[in-house]
Amino acid sequence: MKELRQIAIYGKGGIGKSTTTQNLTAGLTELGKQVMVVGCDPKADSTRLLLGGLAQKTVLDTIRDEGEDIDLDDIMKTGYGNTLCVGSGGPEPGVGCAGRGIITSINMLEDLGAYDDDLDFVFYDVLGDVVCGGFAMPIREGKAKEIYIVASGEMMALYAANNISKGIQRYAKRGGVRLGGIICNSRNVDHEKELLEAFAKELGTKLLYFVPRDNIVQRAEIKRKTVIEYDPESNQAQEYRNLAQAVLENKDFVIPKPMTQERLEEILLQYGMGE
Ligand code: ADP
Ligand code: MG
Repeated sequence: MKELRQIAIYGKGGIGKSTTTQNLTAGLTELGKQVMVVGCDPKADSTRLLLGGLAQKTVLDTIRDEGEDIDLDDIMKTGYGNTLCVGSGGPEPGVGCAGRGIITSINMLEDLGAYDDDLDFVFYDVLGDVVCGGFAMPIREGKAKEIYIVASGEMMALYAANNISKGIQRYAKRGGVRLGGIICNSRNVDHEKELLEAFAKELGTKLLYFVPRDNIVQRAEIKRKTVIEYDPESNQAQEYRNLAQAVLENKDFVIPKPMTQERLEEILLQYGMGE
């Protein structure tokens, strides 16, 4: 029997979680893996690139319109490379508990038998700069045991990554959840790779992969496609395949050691501003 890996992706808003997750997913499907992506963001764009033109109704909207008696097909759509796509939905930020959709979705998916034996990976694409309340749901109670943080060399991205690590540390001490590494989604900051390596090391983890910034990501996005589907021969498509391989082979899972704000600034000064 294959082992199901449930992975949560965290990181500052706009850092590239949804883009990276879907491209990584596309890479994993090329390696013959069965992947489900659960969008845990009220923005509900976590599966747009995998589904192309197909409209995805969120779990919360479906329940609101059709009641609790729904089929798996109502909330799960099949996208690129036979990926299974789910969007939790939720209220606009600041209105009610934005994490409620995540809780409802995971429970509903379990009840409807979505986590079947054929699955290799589930990705939870989680909004938020902090791991708390509903947004901690995917890693609470051992649903997702593996976490990656998407970051860049920009200070606020690292600040968020450090805060997220504090949340992970809290849950890791209680249960089996571990940090698998940092994924750098480059913003072309000076010495970005060295900075991210130093930051990851300080956290007790590693830089799993450095994804370059490339405008082909935007061109593919306009066409509602992952880069792997849009231009499979491109450099960027190969980068995402390499990322998929890195996730597949990763064996380093740790309880992160968040740093103080002072230490974070020190590292930023040393690498980020260094010549
Ligand atoms: P998040 O899900 O973290 O909020 P998104 O995945 O929606 O972030 O990404 C935000 C924007 O950044 C998107 O419009 C996307 O096209 C762009 N983007 C993400 N990764 C890259 C990259 N490696 N190169 C260029 N643009 C990127
Ligand atoms: Mg997103």
